[in-house]
Amino acid sequence: MLALAAALLLAASPAVAPAMPPPAGAAAAPALTLGPEAMAPRDALLADVDPAHLQATVTSLVGFGTRHTLSDTASESRGIGAARRWLAATAAGLAAAPGSRLEPFDDRFTQAAAPPRVPGPVEIWNVGVRLPGTDPRRAKDAIVLTAHYDSRAGDVMDARGDAPGACDDASGVAAILEVARVLAAERPAVTVYFVAVAGEEQGLHGSIHLARRLAAEGIRVLAMASLDTVGNVEGQDGVRDDVSLRVFSEGVPAAETEAGRKLREALGGENDGAAREWARYLRRAASARVENLDVQVMLRRDRIARGSDHLAFSKEGVAAIRLTEGHEHYGRQHQDPRVVDGVAYGDDLAHFDARYAAKVARGLLAAVAELSAAPAPLRELTLGGAVSPDTRLTFPLPDDPRVAGVVVYRRRADSVAWQRADRHPAAGPLVIRGVVPDSHVFAVATVDADGNESLPLHPTRLE
Ligand SMILES: [Zn+2]
Repeated sequence: MLALAAALLLAASPAVAPAMPPPAGAAAAPALTLGPEAMAPRDALLADVDPAHLQATVTSLVGFGTRHTLSDTASESRGIGAARRWLAATAAGLAAAPGSRLEPFDDRFTQAAAPPRVPGPVEIWNVGVRLPGTDPRRAKDAIVLTAHYDSRAGDVMDARGDAPGACDDASGVAAILEVARVLAAERPAVTVYFVAVAGEEQGLHGSIHLARRLAAEGIRVLAMASLDTVGNVEGQDGVRDDVSLRVFSEGVPAAETEAGRKLREALGGENDGAAREWARYLRRAASARVENLDVQVMLRRDRIARGSDHLAFSKEGVAAIRLTEGHEHYGRQHQDPRVVDGVAYGDDLAHFDARYAAKVARGLLAAVAELSAAPAPLRELTLGGAVSPDTRLTFPLPDDPRVAGVVVYRRRADSVAWQRADRHPAAGPLVIRGVVPDSHVFAVATVDADGNESLPLHPTRLE
């Protein structure tokens, strides 16, 4: 179906620039999957992601024995204090490397008692780096990537026992630090934060503080991703899989307004929140550039009744997603390291797969490099054409001279993923003849001359 649609699309309009990933496992013509020539330097960035760096980071973090949020802070070798000082030194090292534009970033605070998982006040450090944006008109726009460096054992209040947390979530920390290292000399339009957060297992406290701090500073977070548990390739279900990456996103926004609810119900937009669009964006960008990585857009906020740091940002109205390995091993999560009847439990270093985690990092890098370089997104999109055979899309362009055009994403309303991506000159309104709005879903992204796209925006009002 998709291949046929793409063929028809090319035959119908030479001006069209398809940007859709091929279906998993399907061969596709190069023209459908490769970006413009100007994007080639990005492939060099992707190639620079080094599994050995991820392995070294995870090994160091596991070496602290436990990184429980309530664990020892005085020891130089064990506990969360030693771990966070090591992370701060690592961040400083990334910033000090030759040619690096990275700046150390930290967000330290005292978390008040929050029973039952935080019985008394505890100091929490969120620590990492920031890659400053270069477009002065967008000085407050940002992308935020987090992973949690705190860990836990079987008892969530056990702050003393071993809790290696190799996959959950030293793997995510290693991935975002490596993406930061590779992007260090880049000059993105908007700022990118790479932050290792703590307090996740005790109730998302680090990310809640970070999300509120950025909001209080007037930072507009365009997109946020939590990399949580991205290093295991042997599932509890017996499946060995180093290809799949699940991306969880909400369809209905956690911070939806009453007006937003009414519009969503009018449009049937339950599958089209901003977070869902960011998940699709990541799938498109990663699928175009990273081999043997199958990004799966899961139509859920998270795994069933579970959570991660993206939820802290969702509550602040941010498009926030979670990246997690394809097949988790529950016997290696939230377990005391031990052997019972010959079966080993625990989140140990031996089950961290650096090559897979590096592939995840490349997928993230492909999306973040493009999004951070893209022009400003649309803020308003009016859908017209009700009870007519044509669709009309009207939008003011953002104040950004780099906008070279727009990309109209379209799918039939019985489909969950985009089926077409048509490029148009920037000037609107656009009238799409013979396409009945009742039977289709639309979103519009801005695009620059190099093919970098913003996040697509769904209609914000009806004509
Ligand atoms: Zn986790």
